[in-house]
Amino acid sequence: MVRQRYTPSSTFVKELASLPGGDIIDKCIECGVCTAKCAIASGSEYNPRKVVQQILVGAREIVLGSTQPWLCLTCQLCESECQYGVNLSKIFKLVRRITVREGIIPPVFVEAAETIFEDGWLLKRAYTDFVADERRELGLSSRLNWNNRYTSRVSSKYFNTGGKNA
Ligand code: SF4
Ligand code: SF4
Repeated sequence: MVRQRYTPSSTFVKELASLPGGDIIDKCIECGVCTAKCAIASGSEYNPRKVVQQILVGAREIVLGSTQPWLCLTCQLCESECQYGVNLSKIFKLVRRITVREGIIPPVFVEAAETIFEDGWLLKRAYTDFVADERRELGLSSRLNWNNRYTSRVSSKYFNTGGKNA
C-alpha cells in the first residue's frame, strides 16, 4: 500500500474541537468498532476509523482532500456503539464544512450537486425511454414531476444563484 505524504498539522484536532460538536474527537481510542458497525464500511473502501486516525495524527491535507468524510450517511449507527461517545457523523460534517470553506470539495460531489440543481433530480439522466416504457407497462405514470421550483429556491437561498434555474 502506498503511503500518502503530508505535512502534519498540529492544530487540526484543535480546529475541529473548536467547532460546535467537534470537541469529543480527542476521546477516540482508535478501536475500530465504528468501522465494524458502520452501515456502509462492510464491502467498501470506506473506513471511518482510518479517517479518525488521520485526523488525530494531523493529516489535515489528506482528510480534506479525501472523499471519505463525504461518504458518511450520518446514520449514527456507529455512535450508538462507540464506548467513548465519539459522534463521528458530526465530526465528518465539520470536516465537510471546512472543506467547503476552503473550496476543495471533491469534484464528484460538485457534479452531483450541479446535476440536482440542473435537473431537479440526481437520476434524471438515467430516466430513459426504456424506463418510461417499463413504468407504463407496470401501470405507473411515465410523467415524473421534476421539482425544479424547489431546487431553484434552495439554489437561490443557499448559493446566491439568483434563481437561475427558475
Ligand atoms: S470513534 Fe469510537 S468506535 Fe470509532 S475508533 Fe474511535 S473510539 Fe472506537
Ligand atoms: S454515521 Fe457514518 S460512519 Fe457512522 S455508521 Fe453511519 S455511515 Fe458509518
